[in-house]
Amino acid sequence: MINLNPSAMAMVPFVSVQDMMKIVNSIGPRQMMREICAYIEADFARWPLFDKTPRIATHSEEGVIELMPTSDGEYYGFKYVNGHPSNMARGFQTVTAFGVLARVSNGYPVLFSEMTVLTALRTAATSAMAAKYLGPKGARTMALIGNGAQCEFQALAFQEIVGITAVRLYDVDAQATHKAAKNLENSGLDVMICNTAEAAVTGADIITTCTADKQNATVLTDNMVGSGVHINAIGGDCPGKTELHRDILLRSDIFVEYQPQTRIEGEIQALDPDYPVTELWQVITGQLPGRSSDRQITLFDSVGFATEDFSALRYVRDQLERTGHHIDLDLLADPDDPRDLFGMVNRAKGVL
Ligand code: NAD
Repeated sequence: MINLNPSAMAMVPFVSVQDMMKIVNSIGPRQMMREICAYIEADFARWPLFDKTPRIATHSEEGVIELMPTSDGEYYGFKYVNGHPSNMARGFQTVTAFGVLARVSNGYPVLFSEMTVLTALRTAATSAMAAKYLGPKGARTMALIGNGAQCEFQALAFQEIVGITAVRLYDVDAQATHKAAKNLENSGLDVMICNTAEAAVTGADIITTCTADKQNATVLTDNMVGSGVHINAIGGDCPGKTELHRDILLRSDIFVEYQPQTRIEGEIQALDPDYPVTELWQVITGQLPGRSSDRQITLFDSVGFATEDFSALRYVRDQLERTGHHIDLDLLADPDDPRDLFGMVNRAKGVL
């Protein structure tokens, strides 16, 4: 890049996909999810501070494109993310994302980052955080139904943060299950490949559903869920896209991220709009109980909320010095004389 006038631009750290992979591999995925979990938990603990809105979703036949903004007053963040269940069959990712963190005081971005990998890390960290508060004590076995892009991240986060030692994998596509089993080979987890969802949930203390289907699917039926289980349902996250039979919801105590968004997108679409649910931040701050009995079924009806992405971006920004993996992007025009934007362009004529 020819640098005409360094002060004509404000450089913004950019974390590419390659940089993110270097960051994950230098810190280690499990440690990184533990650390992101701490950031997410710290931000849930100061929940009332945040500007909150259900995400802005643009739906099409094939999927959805969403913007997820929030701010704590000091920083503002947003994520651009798609959700296209039909993508996989066409060779594209179901979920891809990128995001920005900016300083509220002058509006200048302080980080621009890939967020496809980061979303998988933050989703698994959030799931594990919820299970820490809601899961049965001493949970060791988790069923993982849906073995796509999110799957191994979920397995490793639950191993690291919850103490899971065994995972039971099931996917309608056996290739996905074999891919996940291979990726988890040296994880220290006891990995069991199952041929049905029923087999996968047998003996599981925690059931994670992370399937992608643009319909009200029934990945779990009522008879598959025994008392005392914690369900981590992450694949039902759009209007008309759910995973659980309604009867399971009626037997469960339901915990959500941000109620106004989950009413639109989560499993609780199937319930009356005033059906009681608890927001997770209230459990984290000790205002309301999480799990209160061994027989209780707890359900984390996860859709993914903007503060989780904000926390993840905050975390990545704080790692830039530690890892060094980023480049500085010439993203913002910033002329010496703030009013002389035209002059800056004009002076570049013949030089650039
Ligand atoms: P993916 O397409 O990579 O994987 C989904 C897997 O589900 C595929 O392997 C598919 O074969 C399998 N599947 C579909 N229907 C099934 C069924 N009935 N039983 C068993 N397996 C089935 O998708 P992904 O990136 O892993 O995402 C999984 C889901 O999680 C998506 O629905 C996505 O929108 C959602 N998601 C939620 C959050 C959140 O914060 N809650 C974050 C990221 C992704």
